[in-house]
Amino acid sequence: MDITAPPSKRARKSPFLDEDITGIRAILSDEFDEDIALIKAHSCQLETKQQLQAVIQELSQKLPHFQHLKRVQDRSVLICPSSELGISQSLEQHLEQFAFSEHVLRALCQGVRVVEVPERMPRLRVQYEKTLKHWPCKFHPNHYSESLRNGSNFSSAQRTFHKRMGQLLVRLSRDVNANRPVGICVDPRQPSIVSIAGTGEVCKPHEHCCMMLVDFVARSQEGGATQTEVIFTEDAKGETTLRGIPKAYYDYLMNNEDCKDLTFGAEKARECKEANPVQGADNLAKFGPYLCTGYDVYLLQEPCLMCSMALVHSRAKRVFFVKNSDNGALATRFQLHSVRELNHHYEVFQFTAEENEDLT
Ligand SMILES: [Zn+2]
Repeated sequence: MDITAPPSKRARKSPFLDEDITGIRAILSDEFDEDIALIKAHSCQLETKQQLQAVIQELSQKLPHFQHLKRVQDRSVLICPSSELGISQSLEQHLEQFAFSEHVLRALCQGVRVVEVPERMPRLRVQYEKTLKHWPCKFHPNHYSESLRNGSNFSSAQRTFHKRMGQLLVRLSRDVNANRPVGICVDPRQPSIVSIAGTGEVCKPHEHCCMMLVDFVARSQEGGATQTEVIFTEDAKGETTLRGIPKAYYDYLMNNEDCKDLTFGAEKARECKEANPVQGADNLAKFGPYLCTGYDVYLLQEPCLMCSMALVHSRAKRVFFVKNSDNGALATRFQLHSVRELNHHYEVFQFTAEENEDLT
């Protein structure tokens, strides 16, 4: 991961007006998004199909390359990556060290040519179809990954709600927070707004919008470190709390007719929580709120590395953002959510000014 790298081609023109937010796209890691690189490989052309069985049997024992590829196409057989041959070494010289039986060695040296083959297995059908032009490869389609790519992972009601939150970020920033960044955290089960936070006029690193948002979620769970004006209202049953929502945002939303149908409040932390709840929305239902477990986070600006890590630590379920940031850690500079070594992974989506295709 190179944080000094220039912003990648992923940075697209961001929507700036609330009405510009018309679509949502998943930010998938490069292994889903990029065309699969090709590598050079030596292949041979068998004279008869009868040679095939013996050739494949010995090849798979002595040169077990290309697990992701079909080894044979018509009568062409993949032998090894061309990079394995020594400088100015012929294929025959290279193969001598593997003690092939004589008739197999002879077959492998017939009609030798260099072909280009995919370097790894494709993750999405669109990548798979491109690789077919070069050499047939194996492919295990993953329905969920495909749905993230084509947008069918959301129902139209879910999509409408997410876009509404995106539009709300733009409005809250403009109307309440002097065009500075704003974030909203939502419990998607209701859905209900758990916390809202914005960057202040003077912004220390721990006061980035996203850090404040996470802190306000903690406040809804009787934690939190920041002092700002809060509303201490509970619902009639005392099951939800508005401690994560500063008064200025709450008043603005309450005074806007088109926000009257929104639900506010976080489920209160349960007293008797089992130790070590693990990630996922199911645990939110089972154990009650724990940091941002099961919660969706909406941000006006793509978060920086520190804020993106804070969302990992707090176990956010999904992160949506509107605008790319020069130091953004989810799309512009790199994709923190695709780092396998991390112990928690959230999904990342960006609002776009392009409408999603109608998939119904
Ligand atoms: Zn930040």
